[in-house]
Amino acid sequence: MKVIIVGGVAGGASCAARLRRLDEKAEILMVERGPYVSYANCGLPYHVGGVIEKESSLLVASEKTFREQFAIDCRTNCEAIKISADKKTVDLRDVATGEVTTVSYDKLVLSPGAPSVRPPLPGIDLAGIFQVRTVPDARAIREWIEKGSLFLSGMHKYSGFQTVRPKTRAVVIGGGFIGLEMAENLVHRGFDVTLVEMLDQVLAPLDQEMARIVEGYVERHGIHLALNDGVAGFKLAANDAVDVLTKSGKTYPADIVILSLGVRPDTTLAKMAGLKIGERGGIRVDEQMRTSNPDIFAVGDAVEVKDFVTGEWSLIALAGPANRQGRIAADVIAGRNSHFRGSQGTSIIGLFGAAAAWTGASEKTLNRIGDKDYEKIYLYPNSHAGYYPGAKPIAMKVIFRESDGRLLGAQVLGEDGVDKRISALAVALQMGATIYDLEEAELCYAPQFGSAKDPINFAGMVAADVIRGDMPLSHWDSAEEELLLDVREPVELAVESVPGAVNIPLSQLRARLGELPRNREILVICRSGQRAYYATRILLQKGFKARTLAGGMLSRTHAETFWAS
Ligand SMILES: Cc1cc2nc3c(=O)[nH]c(=O)nc-3n(C[C@H](O)[C@H](O)[C@H](O)COP(=O)(O)OP(=O)(O)OC[C@H]3O[C@@H](n4cnc5c(N)ncnc54)[C@H](O)[C@@H]3O)c2cc1C
Repeated sequence: MKVIIVGGVAGGASCAARLRRLDEKAEILMVERGPYVSYANCGLPYHVGGVIEKESSLLVASEKTFREQFAIDCRTNCEAIKISADKKTVDLRDVATGEVTTVSYDKLVLSPGAPSVRPPLPGIDLAGIFQVRTVPDARAIREWIEKGSLFLSGMHKYSGFQTVRPKTRAVVIGGGFIGLEMAENLVHRGFDVTLVEMLDQVLAPLDQEMARIVEGYVERHGIHLALNDGVAGFKLAANDAVDVLTKSGKTYPADIVILSLGVRPDTTLAKMAGLKIGERGGIRVDEQMRTSNPDIFAVGDAVEVKDFVTGEWSLIALAGPANRQGRIAADVIAGRNSHFRGSQGTSIIGLFGAAAAWTGASEKTLNRIGDKDYEKIYLYPNSHAGYYPGAKPIAMKVIFRESDGRLLGAQVLGEDGVDKRISALAVALQMGATIYDLEEAELCYAPQFGSAKDPINFAGMVAADVIRGDMPLSHWDSAEEELLLDVREPVELAVESVPGAVNIPLSQLRARLGELPRNREILVICRSGQRAYYATRILLQKGFKARTLAGGMLSRTHAETFWAS
């Protein structure tokens, strides 16, 4: 069997290596347009920032590795330029010589990825404007930065004047994860960084109130955010600098510009082969990664996948799904009955020592599709037992089906323990777990790692309390006519209080129940929701109508208060 794989990075390389492990006899040809296969594009921002110092560290496996270890005919600088699906052939162009050869296949796998969006804006081709997708992209950025830093070595030895102006101002366009990672790394390189984002928040998959926490954090670490503003064009300024012009009429001078406007599935070859393209613009595949042509498979950023929670077709440009899909395509080609389960978009980004992570549906996604059968909770547990040094608060938003408790999505932020919480929630979600399963999950515990009641259990318990009716819930955005009862201590109110709220500290509540009305609903507030829950339980058992305000004061002003806590 002759198998051609187009694209030699995440999806393509996984497919090639897996196929060889399953079939020693298959004739495998993997072609890659660029100079490297199997490189770590996820590490590129950190190479720019100097965290990953050596470029060679990014090269996970070479053309030689594929040839020698896997007996795969691996060709770099080799571009697939045409597919003739009827003849089952692919035209390959040697990038160096331009020579074109035609090869035939029994099965073809497309993993061409998704190039960075590069709109035809005025001035977009000016020197100093970069995108970050490949190793050569990262190299070019490093060279540009280093070229401008020569002055640091001192004065010109004859004239005594500085001959090279330092590069100090960076503008990153786009507040997705690559944009933010680049912004962080440029801060590490000493740049004054402005991030311009067209939306009114960074990290679009997060709900806005959670994104606000991220925004507060990166601003505290020196990134200037210009939200709600799109780039309109670029103008050459003095000393090789670039003026970034925005739609609102502002100008941001920059010595380096990073374009990070998202990616678009590469469907050039797929269209040429007459393959079905879906409504989101990606190659349409079935659960076995087969395209509309049964002999052509497609994987990775170029394909549309079913959203695991909503069932909608979506584009998920992530390394994990690309790798798994490559493996599944190989399985199927080798005769195995593997299936892709869909993607839930599980992601994490590290920023200045903190992390933001998410999985499954966001609240705004559910609202967009008109799904009202959900409830959400906010909680702020410690990353590990508070009595053990170094515990940090985590901000968690967990979304679940109101009717049956099924976990729908989660967003977790903080400086410690974020990754394992979102990973546990992601597995639970994929297994179709309910919040009752989270209550009962048996997780590892020692004080330096977690709590006997881990934040995952805690989330399950809080959510289950809501569904079981033990803790009727309300949210700040729906609070209207109710009486607000603040059960914090007066000293806490001095820092921040809610106008019109009655203050009865939890410790005095039982003695002062007579001060509260029985004919009005009472919304109970505290700092994070925990004391409000205790108070709600007292009130409900004493015959009052009470609800806990989810997440307390911390969820009222997410961004300002969380990192200060
Ligand atoms: C800077 C950066 C950081 C990232 N960080 C993360 C992260 O932290 N976590 C995460 O999950 N994901 C991350 N990603 C996304 C992840 O890298 C992609 O989702 C993944 O690489 C997609 O795999 P793929 O095989 O579909 O495409 P790619 O890995 O992009 O590979 C496609 C390859 O196909 C080649 N190609 C295209 N057309 C042809 C052709 N006609 N002929 C020959 N070759 C061709 C391209 O040159 C390219 O090398 C990051 C991406 C970037 C760019």
